[in-house]
Amino acid sequence: MPSIYDLDAAQLATYLDAEPSYRAHQVWRGLWDEGREIADITTISKSLRHRLAEDFPSALEVAHDVTSDRGATRKWVFRLHDGATIETVLMAYVDRVTVCVSSQAGCAMGCSFCATGQAGFTRQLSVGEVIEQVMYAARAAAPRRLSNVVFMGMGEPLANYPVTVGVVRRLHEHRGMSARHLTVSTVGVAPAIERLAAEGLPLTLCVSLHAANNETRNELVPLNRRYPLERLYDACATWIATTSRRLSFEWALIDGVNDTDQALVELADYAGSLQAHVNLIPLNPTPGYLVRGTASARVYEFRTGLEERGINVTVRNTRGRSIDAACGQLAAVTNGHKSSVALRTR
Ligand code: SAH
Ligand code: SF4
Repeated sequence: MPSIYDLDAAQLATYLDAEPSYRAHQVWRGLWDEGREIADITTISKSLRHRLAEDFPSALEVAHDVTSDRGATRKWVFRLHDGATIETVLMAYVDRVTVCVSSQAGCAMGCSFCATGQAGFTRQLSVGEVIEQVMYAARAAAPRRLSNVVFMGMGEPLANYPVTVGVVRRLHEHRGMSARHLTVSTVGVAPAIERLAAEGLPLTLCVSLHAANNETRNELVPLNRRYPLERLYDACATWIATTSRRLSFEWALIDGVNDTDQALVELADYAGSLQAHVNLIPLNPTPGYLVRGTASARVYEFRTGLEERGINVTVRNTRGRSIDAACGQLAAVTNGHKSSVALRTR
């Protein structure tokens, strides 16, 4: 087991079966209700803490810890037990505190504009490795309460389906988090969206659309060749019909690629017929994709154009740009030039 958070309550009780039965409850409460590190679960003896910590060392070793946006954004690169690296980003807002978690080390989807996609796939994360990111961030956020979890770090959550579902279930059941506060972002694995719709899980779904014609989307998101826009549309419609929940599309604005008037009309048609919300994301530059992001004047023009067509749209404020805090970028840099991260600015 990579992490103590991989254990469910019954497995923890089995592990502690030589102890009085209330012991498992004390440990469980310390881990889940209070989000403590094993060493800080002071309701149990020092020797038991020591044994637990030896058998279940922390899954996350901090390789880098960087702060930006005057302290409101904090990003960690964590090294896992086998040396794989992932990233986790904590973002504090006036009304909420959000953690962005990784669901895989790397990603096999190969989206051209994404640093994680450019670096390729290393391995799946376990439930515990994802939960530990949440708990680590919750401790760092204190005294504020961590309110939201978004699966928008490294990896494609629906390509690690059982783990994503397991994490959402546990955060709901053991941390009391609700659908409004749990968001899964997917590149558009159509059959997995349909399967997810049937789980009855409390979560919000975002689909990374980026283009609403197959030719452009094939270039940006190779998975579109397997699940083209028509197939994705059916899956989105199923999601909405089954869950009665609103869907969001993400659209990273790329100069001359998907910010044209034609792209705007295509997006308005696609999103409009599903009554989906659109989230415009200014593109973060990455080493492997040399096309520029859309200039900000055009971003706002594009937003207005969508609004005029009746689309509900927001422009995402990209946090942590100076620390490459969007989608795997810091980890990509870290692998190559270990010391350059903290000093990098744009
Ligand atoms: N694999 C999932 C979730 C992780 S990516 C997905 O693709 O949805 C989270 C979001 O960041 C996605 O919408 C993705 O398209 C976007 N993204 C990736 N690289 C980006 C970049 N360079 N600039 C802006 N957004 C990017
Ligand atoms: Fe993977 Fe998402 Fe990046 Fe595409 S955008 S490569 S699916 S992490």
